[in-house]
Amino acid sequence: MSNLLSPNDEQGLSSGYHSPQVTVDVRLNTNESPYPPPRAFVHALATELAEVAFNRYPDRDARELRAALGRLHGVGPEQVFVANGSNEVLQTLLLTYGGPGRRAAVFEPTYALHSHLSRLTRTGVWVGDRQPDFHLDLGEVKRAAAEADPAITFVCSPNNPTGGAEPRAVVEEVLDLAPGLVVVDEAYGQFAPWSALELVGNDVGLVVVRTYSKTWSMAATRLGYLVGPAAVITELEHRVLPYHLDAVKQAAGRLALRFTTEMEARVAAVKDERSRVHDGLEKLAVETWPSDANFLLFRPTTRKGREVWAALVQRSVLVRDVGDWPRLSGCLRVTVGTPAENDAFLGALSEVLDR
Ligand code: PMP
Repeated sequence: MSNLLSPNDEQGLSSGYHSPQVTVDVRLNTNESPYPPPRAFVHALATELAEVAFNRYPDRDARELRAALGRLHGVGPEQVFVANGSNEVLQTLLLTYGGPGRRAAVFEPTYALHSHLSRLTRTGVWVGDRQPDFHLDLGEVKRAAAEADPAITFVCSPNNPTGGAEPRAVVEEVLDLAPGLVVVDEAYGQFAPWSALELVGNDVGLVVVRTYSKTWSMAATRLGYLVGPAAVITELEHRVLPYHLDAVKQAAGRLALRFTTEMEARVAAVKDERSRVHDGLEKLAVETWPSDANFLLFRPTTRKGREVWAALVQRSVLVRDVGDWPRLSGCLRVTVGTPAENDAFLGALSEVLDR
């Protein structure tokens, strides 16, 4: 019986992946949008929900949602795969192209779920380094190809938690070097100067992963998607559970796309605030890096990161302690919030660093 109760933890997975949830006034630890979605969206969704046939399974192929996303990105529905958050998109990619005997290449520090989900699916993880400024090092991409022949090469752009987006020329070079599928994770893509969506094609080994969680102000909905070759989408569809995407989510995702202008206004507001917070950080005793996302990485220079994190919590401000991620000892990550939240963060941080 005790065997039945003990999960297989050969890969050291029992701790999972979490950001601590602490009750505070200013929550800047999980990179959500600080703004709720437009009221008109919520009303349109409520109206539509009244029409949902709740006794029936949803459209298994999520045809309308995929067609709407396809129109947004100038591709057909057969080039769009949708799932419960971009995390489920990533997991499905690994279930499809990873597995025992195969490897995924990641370049640390980067989004921890890429390696975590690889291990969950028994995919080998080949870990490469980045340049000193945390941008991708093409020499490492080449080394990955030679040493590991990766089935999947992960490019996180903008990279979480360091913030930089890779230029188009770099992604094109990765496409040339990588032997398998290149997965560009653009969870923060709308905050960046360009998108790898431009490079997607039916004969290109590239998929671009996106989410509704950040720019669409819909983290609670758990909806993500990828755009890629139709043949890849067909394979992914074979790996998901039947009816994996419920009718409420399908409606929410489709209706949200009617509010692109409002979404773009939210992105612009966050980008303005990002510059202001970056300038504010530069005046304090911290090292910080440029960001193409909705968060900023910084490292206090006069106090330990962990102590600063705790002192901020005492002032009811929660940021993410990323000090135990590779190469990020002493670093913290702050999500860009509303102007008032950002003022509270900068005020609390300057107080904490003055001590
Ligand atoms: N990719 C990256 C780089 C992320 O930072 C996140 C969210 N932390 C995700 C994917 C997952 O987002 P979601 O599952 O909410 O779509």
